[in-house]
This record gives sequence, structure tokens and C-alpha cells, in this order.
Amino acid sequence: MAGRNGLFVPGPTNVPDRVLRAMVVPMEDHRSPRFPALTRDCLEGLKAVFKTSTATPFLFPSSGTGCWEAALSNCLSPGDMVLVARFGQFSHLWVDMCHRLGFEVQVLECEWGEGAPLERYEAALAADTAHRIKAVLVTHNETATGVTSDVAGVRRAMDATGHPALLFVDAVSSLASIDFRMDDWKVDVCVSGSQKGLMMPAGLGVTCVSEKALEARRRTARQPVCYFDYIDMQNQNRNGYFPYTPPLPLLYGLRESLAMLAEEGLENVFRRHAYLAGGVRAAVQQGWGLEVCAKQPQWYSDTVSAVVVPAGTDAARVIDRAFRRYNLSLGAGLSKVAGKVFRIGHLGDCNELMLMQAIGGAEMAMIDCGLPIEPGSGVAAAQRHWRAHEAEASGTTGGM
Ligand SMILES: *Cc1c(COP(=O)(O)O)cnc(C)c1O
Repeated sequence: MAGRNGLFVPGPTNVPDRVLRAMVVPMEDHRSPRFPALTRDCLEGLKAVFKTSTATPFLFPSSGTGCWEAALSNCLSPGDMVLVARFGQFSHLWVDMCHRLGFEVQVLECEWGEGAPLERYEAALAADTAHRIKAVLVTHNETATGVTSDVAGVRRAMDATGHPALLFVDAVSSLASIDFRMDDWKVDVCVSGSQKGLMMPAGLGVTCVSEKALEARRRTARQPVCYFDYIDMQNQNRNGYFPYTPPLPLLYGLRESLAMLAEEGLENVFRRHAYLAGGVRAAVQQGWGLEVCAKQPQWYSDTVSAVVVPAGTDAARVIDRAFRRYNLSLGAGLSKVAGKVFRIGHLGDCNELMLMQAIGGAEMAMIDCGLPIEPGSGVAAAQRHWRAHEAEASGTTGGM
């Protein structure tokens, strides 16, 4: 098919040309005296993105899922209890991993489309007077439903009950796109990956670990861990090296993407994501007269919108039509919301006119599938939104 594929799945996201070019490098000796400078640039740059001066970022050759496993295996012991809310496919997969690794899992079941239930977290923690819960897990941005949760609120619930559990946060689809604060929120492990807000290919597990979590690893944790051992990684990283062969091109790419984020300014990056998301929601709600899956505005995600199609329509047909006819990749509905939603990713290296491709293409695909949508209605609503909010547009990237 001629022209570029419109890639609007919520990861992998579009990789800026600058980052692509930075990754075209000859292989080199990862034990050379030159190599540590690259490691240090990446890890120092990540501290700014995690908003931490006290925690330790690590890069594992894995996807984000590997960092979930790293968090659980490094900090806990067999049979430990974890507290976790399930409100979408990614929080579900985290619960599933906890079961499969042999932990006792207390699940706060929520409707898909809701965010982290702060009162129920607090009640569960208050009830746990014996402090059997060793870790509290929360998915900051549930990518399946387009729901952002209040991580600071979860921390407040923990503090209000004086509960000493560790706080693990999945920020795979929020880091570097939606404000995340490792130190302010006293997060113990933040789990992320390279292929979403960091504008990179998949392949780097990007994580950050507090002193308290490292202390747990050293003193109390008995879960077996080897490949993902924080201590091995920390010992090597201290001198700029890795315990095994790192994916060199990805490190060069990450250094470039971190430079781009710093040039734009992290706060401007967040503002741009909020502004772009506002235009997409205007298209969905005002233009098409549809709803997003997130049940309340407080949970609207600035990185992904799950568009609920009218009952009786199969969203998978819209996605298929968009791809085959218009070379447009929309995100599928996963698990419980399969067929009910399609998703538009609006994160990473993105601007208004790129999103016009997604909105215009989704609109045509829906009309082709028989939905009663007025041609141009979503595009017009997005135009009106973005033209009316120019002051918030600061930092729109050139992407070159
Ligand atoms: C993408 C995603 C994951 C999975 O990450 P992988 O890099 O595919 O392993 C986990 N959680 C959330 C919230 C995600 O968006």
C-alpha cells in the first residue's frame, strides 16, 4: 500500500526519525572503557522522567511485562499477599502473573472503565492489621479502557492507614506522557517499557526502584530471582556496565528520546498530551456522538481513548476495515471489551494532524460499517477543540 501506515495503537508508538537514526549504529564492545558514558546518560536521563532523586532506574532487555516480574520476584517472598485492583486487561494480566508466581492475591474487582477504587484500597489496608499485605499494586494508566488512576490517592490511602506495604505502579502507558512522580508519591517500584511514551521500539524494560524496595530485596525477599536481579544490575550499572549483553541500539535510541523529551520539557510534553487527547475526545463525544469507555472525566486518559461503538456493532469490523481500506492501525478491544471498543492511541511523538489521520480514518471506517456518523463530524469537532485551545498546544514536536 502506498503512503505511510497510520499507526495509532497505544504502543508501539511512532518512533521519531531522530530516534530511528540514532539507533543505526555498528555493534561495539559493551565492556569497553567508552561504553559507561552511554549507560550513565540513559540512567541519569531516566531519573528526570521518573521525577526521582533517590530511587534507582534500571533497564532490562525485556518488554514492560518483564519489569512486573522483576518487581514481584525481587521484593517479595513465596506466598506473600498482594493487594491489587482489576479494571482492564493490563491490570488483569498483572493479577494473573501474581497468581502464577505463587502469591496470595487480594483482588479489588472493578467495572472496566473505572479507575483505582481509593476507598476500597484504604478499607482493605485498614482491615489488614497484621500487615500481611506486602505490596499494593496499581495500574496508573489502564490501556485497555483508557483510564488513568490517582496514584497519589493510593499513596494517601496507604499513609492514612500507616500501612508499610510496598507500592508498585504500572506506568507502561503513562510514563513520559502523563505526570508521574516517583518521589512525591513514594512509589517503590515503577514499571514501564520503551515502546509507548518513550517513543522507541519495544525491547527495553524501563523500571525504577526505591531504596525501600532495594532494602527488601537485600534483607527480606526470598522469591527466586536471577535474570532480573536488581542487585546484579545495580552492581554492574554502578560502573556503567550490565550483567549481560545490553541491546546497544536501543540504548542509543533511548538517549536520543530522552534528549527530545528534555528539549521539549517534560511539563510541556504532559500539556501536549492533554491537549491532543482533548481533541480526540471532542471528535468522539461531540463529533460522533459516541462515548469513551472511561466512565468519569476524572479517569479520562491523555494517552489512549477507547471508543465505545453502538450496541449491535462489532468494533472489530471497524478496526479491520480501517486497516484494509485505509492503512490505518487502530487498537483492538481486549478481552471483556473485545468487539465493544476500538482504541486510538495518542501518545508519544504525536501532533494534531497525525491524529487527524486517525480521526478521519476511523470516521470513514465507521461509516463504511454502517454506523450513523456524519462525514467530517469528528474531524470538525477536533479542529474546533484544537483551534480553541491553542494556548495549551505548547511544545508540539516536529518529530524530525
Ligand atoms: C503495554 C502495557 C503493558 C505490557 O507491556 P509490554 O511492554 O507489552 O510487556 C503492561 N501494562 C500496561 C498498562 C500497558 O499499556
